[in-house]
Amino acid sequence: MKKKNNPDNSISIVLPVYNEEENIALQYKNITDNLDGAKLKYEIIFVDDGSIDRSVAILNEIARKDRRVKIVQFRRNFGQTAAMAAGIDHSSGDIIIFMDSDLQNDAGDIARMVDKIHEGYDVVSGWRKDRKDKLISRKIPSRMANWLISRVSGVPLHDLGCSLKAYRGEVLRQVKLYGEMHRFIPVHASWVGARIAEIPVQHHARRFGKSKYGIKRTFKVILDLITVKFMGSFSTKPIYVFGGAGLVLFGLSAVSGVAVIIMKFTHGLSMNRNPLLIFTVLLILMSFMFIMLGILAEILIRIYHESQDKTPYTVKALVNLKKTR
Ligand code: UDP
Ligand code: MG
Repeated sequence: MKKKNNPDNSISIVLPVYNEEENIALQYKNITDNLDGAKLKYEIIFVDDGSIDRSVAILNEIARKDRRVKIVQFRRNFGQTAAMAAGIDHSSGDIIIFMDSDLQNDAGDIARMVDKIHEGYDVVSGWRKDRKDKLISRKIPSRMANWLISRVSGVPLHDLGCSLKAYRGEVLRQVKLYGEMHRFIPVHASWVGARIAEIPVQHHARRFGKSKYGIKRTFKVILDLITVKFMGSFSTKPIYVFGGAGLVLFGLSAVSGVAVIIMKFTHGLSMNRNPLLIFTVLLILMSFMFIMLGILAEILIRIYHESQDKTPYTVKALVNLKKTR
């Protein structure tokens, strides 16, 4: 997958496309107008995520005239995250930049992001300070989600949902993407040791076509956050989480069991008439289940790490040494 040091492709711009027929040509123009002026070497990778409108025909037409434009066409709609992953897989740039193809992001911000990367940052995240979306269904839920995510993950960003982001290729290519997790790439990157910067970017209202998401997305983001947090903080030691809960429950069951015995001798309350007995048994069962879950998770996590050749560390550079894997 490594095709580095190709001077013609120092920047790869990746744009997922799902039924954006009115937008693509304008977005292409937006990119070339801004980047040709900035004298940056770049390629543009459009990933068609199973569009059923004229998007693909328009893309093919653009790519026929401009060899810097590349197209990955999916067989069906796999979602924005999958489209971004395919873009990464087919990119050759040292810097990878994501943006939407619906004209909401502006290529005028790209040069500043590239400068930030050259300053030494690995991730530059766009912040739609003046966001042009609906207040109730978009901006407010997004604000809350961003607040929660930065609290839980410890990565202080204002706008994870902003598509316009720049990454140093070597950092991004280490991150595997699942489900709808692209919003969490900066979190993953930060956990493997990336330096992160945030810059305010422009945002425009959608002029053509429809948004592909609704309010449902907020709930998915919360569930993704739980997964990400678990994978990030506990995935190398799940027994501490599950086993810890198991031990606490076991302790509670012991307390409750002792209470049952004491009540029998002090109040003469028959043990099998005491509802606390059921509680005790329930807690013991649950504590064993949790510990077993922890052990199962430990086995799974070993398979996960070993099958993917994952190391428990990430290396920035090696001196007088070759990469071993
Ligand atoms: N998109 C995609 N696959 C999908 C949904 C969206 O490739 O299943 C693309 C879409 O064409 C756009 C970007 O992802 O370029 C962001 O989508 P959208 O503009 O609908 O999201 P919003 O800006 O409303 O959050
Ligand atoms: Mg949009």
